[in-house]
Amino acid sequence: MRKKIIIGNWKMFKTNTEALKFIKEVDEKIIKNENIIAGVAIPFTALSDANKIAKNLIIAAENVHFEKEGAFTGEISIPMLKDLNIKYVVVGHSERRQMFNDTDEIVNRKVKSLLESNMIPVLCCGESLDIFEAQKTTEFVSRQIEKALNGVSAQDVKNIVIAYEPIWAIGTGKVATPEIAENVIHEIRKKLISLYGDSVAQEILIQYGGSVKPDNIKEILSQSNIDGALIGGASLKAESYLDLVNYSAK
Ligand code: 13P
Repeated sequence: MRKKIIIGNWKMFKTNTEALKFIKEVDEKIIKNENIIAGVAIPFTALSDANKIAKNLIIAAENVHFEKEGAFTGEISIPMLKDLNIKYVVVGHSERRQMFNDTDEIVNRKVKSLLESNMIPVLCCGESLDIFEAQKTTEFVSRQIEKALNGVSAQDVKNIVIAYEPIWAIGTGKVATPEIAENVIHEIRKKLISLYGDSVAQEILIQYGGSVKPDNIKEILSQSNIDGALIGGASLKAESYLDLVNYSAK
């Protein structure tokens, strides 16, 4: 049986001091459950200190550059993250695709560089409202996945977490119904089956993201193909985050 993976994505929120306060509180209070992987993807400035104090929470990065080093002012490399013992890195979030020119090709290079370094990409995909309304979601998202995984082996793909985040549901309060999310994620799994075969595809964890809250997480995660959630706004407060990751204990 696949585990559940619940990751908060803080985006550009919290100073190092604020992050440490949150991590200390949550790490102590989290109910340990071997079937749930719980983490937070946080700003670069807080990674080092946060990862030193977290015992139960996974501390993830929100982005990385695909080159090991070089003249890329302002960027952070994989060796820099590895040196801090960071393992999970979010790549291809729609905000980076839309605002920072992370193309499918760049996302693919990031995925491959992370896998070569034995790290775990949390690969985001998802369609805009226009595409959703034109009923082209499956086609669009399948293509994003295919491009992001170009050249990734069946052995390596098992180390990827996929996050399906419809752009129209991010930060809008408009959550995709559990049925919509399940349908698209089922289509993503079918794409993975066509690329890698059934047994590999059944091992890959696929999250849903977009206005997940403590009061809707249980229903979303009860869908058979949805293996977790990537959560923005509702992951910023300790109490709300704890309600999300402890959802099954309620
Ligand atoms: P919200 O949960 O705030 O809608 O954000 C989702 C998201 O973008 C997580 O990566």
